[in-house]
Amino acid sequence: MEKRYFQKEIETMPVDELKKLQSEKLVKQVKHVYENVEYYRNLMDEKGVKPEDIRGIEDISKLPFLTKADLRDAYPYGLMGKPLKDCVRIQSTSGTTGRRVVAFYTQNDIDLWEECCARAIVAAGGSDEDVVQVSYGYGLFTGGPGLNGGSHKVGSLTIPTSSGNTERQMQFITDLSATILCCTPSYAAYIGESFKEKGYKPEDIPLKAGIFGAEPWTEEMRHSIEESLGIKAYDIYGLTELSGPGVSFECEEQTGMHINEDHFLAEIINPDTGEPLPEGEIGELVFTSLDKEAFPLLRYRTRDLCRLTREKCSCGRTHIKMSKPLGRSDDMMIIRGVNVFPSQIETVLLNEGYTPNYQIIVDRENNTDTFDINVELAPEQFSDTVKDITDREKALVGAMRSMLGIGPKVHLLPPKSIVRSEGKAVRVIDKRKLHD
Ligand code: ADP
Ligand code: ZN
Repeated sequence: MEKRYFQKEIETMPVDELKKLQSEKLVKQVKHVYENVEYYRNLMDEKGVKPEDIRGIEDISKLPFLTKADLRDAYPYGLMGKPLKDCVRIQSTSGTTGRRVVAFYTQNDIDLWEECCARAIVAAGGSDEDVVQVSYGYGLFTGGPGLNGGSHKVGSLTIPTSSGNTERQMQFITDLSATILCCTPSYAAYIGESFKEKGYKPEDIPLKAGIFGAEPWTEEMRHSIEESLGIKAYDIYGLTELSGPGVSFECEEQTGMHINEDHFLAEIINPDTGEPLPEGEIGELVFTSLDKEAFPLLRYRTRDLCRLTREKCSCGRTHIKMSKPLGRSDDMMIIRGVNVFPSQIETVLLNEGYTPNYQIIVDRENNTDTFDINVELAPEQFSDTVKDITDREKALVGAMRSMLGIGPKVHLLPPKSIVRSEGKAVRVIDKRKLHD
């Protein structure tokens, strides 16, 4: 297959040149931030670091971190690197973890962001011959605007359906022969399920690829979506604080997401001590935006846990790859002293042949954590013999226990009893937090 890139020279740049480019940009960016962002200047002064101390990417760890708490403190205008008259847009986080962040963009920031999304679309096989349906939410959420802009840059015919109204999503996909679908993986699963209910077979659906991200999803979920829609499903990662989707994206090799390193310098740190970790180890992902003008964050702690690896990739891209995030450090639940990630639960469920429609409920009773998982049965699994359900539940508890080290209570529910997600799925209801 012919190799396809949106910006070949940058995407396949030799690593030493790439690092040199990053170093040059970093030196400039630190100076820009020090001169224009009082909040960060104060952090640097407190740490005793001057812009002259940063001569290249090897000096990155001298800089102070920025955290979500800093973004909250500085809300709304305290981290801006440009005057308002140079800014043309804001976007805002979806507030999944309860903290809304407002990020600012100059026109140049938007152009670079859309180029990152265009790289992802081309890597998923997109071109100006494609019809790209963008079913991420539009508005403050970055998903819709980001992929929409990327699709325009590629020259694809763009269908800006936004999320929701699943009937209409299916109608546009089939009537207009959409070839690439962009949405959250949970919404893709829902669209796949809805096609099936209407009697469509995967081969009747014109889609060939999907670009899914904005929330954690497992390999098992990928296979399930690929089967239901008859497509190849690509992962895309990003966060509002840095621009939005397109900070990294998967190529056809699908062994991690290439980080757009010409714009974002990535580090992995030990989340407890802040110490940088060597390549290949799992830790918290930290980003420095090298080109952002309006909202230039240095050493921003994402709370996302993953690993970075720089290995030769068959796609020809040289940019470092990040593994699928295990989830955010905030997503990790500590239940009876054991660390549990929703993604582990998803893996077990799909491996055992259940649907990706589940919800985890954690509470505390008599000073002990309670741990319940509601799982929806597929119509063909649904059986009203009580004995069968009890046996299934027992088997699933066993499988959970061997993955997690602790056993939840499992409740198998009739089809359609768990609300479907059109955006980011809510997988966990932690009632302990409500009591605190
Ligand atoms: P919010 O924090 O309100 O959800 P964002 O929409 O900016 O706001 O979400 C960014 C976060 O979404 C990332 O920090 C990460 O935790 C998660 N995320 C984005 N893309 C992916 C992905 N492909 N896989 C796993 N998690 C992702
Ligand atoms: Zn690759």
